[in-house]
Amino acid sequence: MRNKLNYPFSLDNQSRPAYFRVAVAEAFVAGFTLRSGGISCGPFAAANMGYGVGDNETAVTENRRNILNTVGRFSSLITCRQVHGNRCHVVGRRDLDNPEATALIEADALLTAEPGILLGILTADCLPLIMIDKNARALAVVHAGWRGLEQGVAVAALAEFERSFAVPMADISVYAGPAIGACCFTVGGEVIERFQRLPELQGVSGWYREDDSGIRLDLLAVQKSQLLAAGLAPENFYAVDICTSCHEFCFSYRRDRAITGRQLAFAGIV
Ligand SMILES: [Zn+2]
Repeated sequence: MRNKLNYPFSLDNQSRPAYFRVAVAEAFVAGFTLRSGGISCGPFAAANMGYGVGDNETAVTENRRNILNTVGRFSSLITCRQVHGNRCHVVGRRDLDNPEATALIEADALLTAEPGILLGILTADCLPLIMIDKNARALAVVHAGWRGLEQGVAVAALAEFERSFAVPMADISVYAGPAIGACCFTVGGEVIERFQRLPELQGVSGWYREDDSGIRLDLLAVQKSQLLAAGLAPENFYAVDICTSCHEFCFSYRRDRAITGRQLAFAGIV
């Protein structure tokens, strides 16, 4: 049973775009967008937030403007060039002056302590994370596909909170958005072998399933185990827990055979 205490996500289906709002402290806005409430067509319908995926760029710009209008109080959306690694980039005022340059920076986690900056990570099956400092000093958005997970991108982001902002892990809450689930994410045995070598998964079970139909990896379970092993308190980890491949209201790279849009995980300090 989902209750408000351990499920701080509410679906806003009427906004443009539709999104899961994350209940966070007043100083923040945070959410995960979905497919509906946009102007893109065909496989990108409707609220594709990603450039460079084959969609009309004018439509993407309009969809991004819509989320800025929906959220309010932010003039631009800051993204980066996601490369399935573990590099973190700290966003400051200079990035606001030239968001196009920041969009070319290779990273898979963006952090900021500056009010007025809306950070975004794009996904279509990979696991998006929003990390919030309860004392309102800083936040992060993280892109964790299986390659990023293997390289510990989320743990790297937690370390960056401490290094750049002196925010200890005990003050951080992690919110995991829609991603491909263990119901659908078929992988080869070599992927499981790579994860079996990770120290944080030693003695942990239930993070993959194997039956006649194949082997399926549970990204969310791996991510949670990894963060708890790094020291995150279990009560500070929350997950939307919706499979992108099972639900047509999400873009899914695998289900849609690579021709699809991207949803946006966004967070900002007001
Ligand atoms: Zn599924």
